[in-house]
Amino acid sequence: MTLVGLDDTDSREHGMCTTYVAARVADAVEAAGGSVDRRHLVRLNPAIEFKTRGNAALCLETDLDPARAFGLATAEVDRLAEVDDPQTDPGVVVADATAETVPDAVAAFARRAVRKRIDSNEAIDLLDRLGYHHDGGRGRIGALAAVGAGRAVDDWTYERIAYRELDRCGTPRTVDRESAFAAAEAAYPDAWDTVDREAGELVCVPSAPGPILYGIRGDDPETVGKVAAAIESEPVESAVTYRTNQGTDAHLRPGTVGTVREGRAYRLDGVVDDAPETRTGGHVHLTIRDGDETLPCVAFEPTKRFRDRVRHLRTGDRVTVCGEVGTGTLKLEKFALREQVTTERVVPTCPDCERSMESAGRNQGYRCRDCGTTAPGRVNRTLDRELDPGWYEAPPCARRHIAKPLVRGGFDAPTHPER
Ligand SMILES: [Zn+2]
Repeated sequence: MTLVGLDDTDSREHGMCTTYVAARVADAVEAAGGSVDRRHLVRLNPAIEFKTRGNAALCLETDLDPARAFGLATAEVDRLAEVDDPQTDPGVVVADATAETVPDAVAAFARRAVRKRIDSNEAIDLLDRLGYHHDGGRGRIGALAAVGAGRAVDDWTYERIAYRELDRCGTPRTVDRESAFAAAEAAYPDAWDTVDREAGELVCVPSAPGPILYGIRGDDPETVGKVAAAIESEPVESAVTYRTNQGTDAHLRPGTVGTVREGRAYRLDGVVDDAPETRTGGHVHLTIRDGDETLPCVAFEPTKRFRDRVRHLRTGDRVTVCGEVGTGTLKLEKFALREQVTTERVVPTCPDCERSMESAGRNQGYRCRDCGTTAPGRVNRTLDRELDPGWYEAPPCARRHIAKPLVRGGFDAPTHPER
């Protein structure tokens, strides 16, 4: 068998898309008499610099011989990749292996590429050592990671992507809302992030230019196929089902407040130190503490109603936070409230006058100005908490492809899924 890895053919500005290039390579392989077996769509470390939205790399498994497959793939990439965009630097990697038989070094490379930045030289050294066919630039990092994904990913999900007729690209997409919402409702929770019910948004329809009409994500290929087929829309040029690491939290690693590094994504524990505060732009900031170390966290404005959950946190709450660290701040994707503070220390109220007492002087306790009643110090008041313990998440309209929706399960506390 032969594995064909592809990456970085897309462009933020012009909207070509690596999944589309992969679909065209598959067509070329089939036209040349080969068959295409599995197709992997791998989301790499979402924090890396030159990312287009989502940072996807692709791998096709085919029975065509490696040299032939390499020729076809490079020809399609040359034809379709948006190389006019200076940030696009495509890569093609072809290996003589099946997804399950790639060498340990390739599997290890793929595991790391999901969680950290990797230098192109490292990828090229490994490619040369293995004698793999390769061509292009920085995209070879993702292409090699996609080739190794079969052994690096242990939680697979599926996405059915429907493509537009190419001459319609750049024009507004026509997708029937009612049929999409109905199909999403019928298949939930086996298919997720098809729509955002609260925001009334079709999450499955991209807003950026490009050939994708819609993408349906879910736990199994049958369900995503069924939802895709039930959506009424403009003509679908072709549709492909990918096996993927989307919706798995594969980018998160365990960490501690004091040891986080830029460009990596973590799951870590702490106590709320600075209470949440909404600042310019509607972003909600807070700080968490672990011992002497603190870490600023932020829920960005586009995470919408997730910010309301974050705002309900209070100083002293024990939490687990998840997200990528950039410029010293963790960008919240989800969090768990582990243990909440239930009381706060407040200035006592006079039992007779029902007025707040005043300080009677340094270390002198409090005294009622009206009747002279005294109290030795602050008192506990029970807090009315609006947040139940458990996991909270950014809503579908703001979720990254790789982030695991709570509804998929497997979390270590009760969940409060957004849908
Ligand atoms: Zn009083």
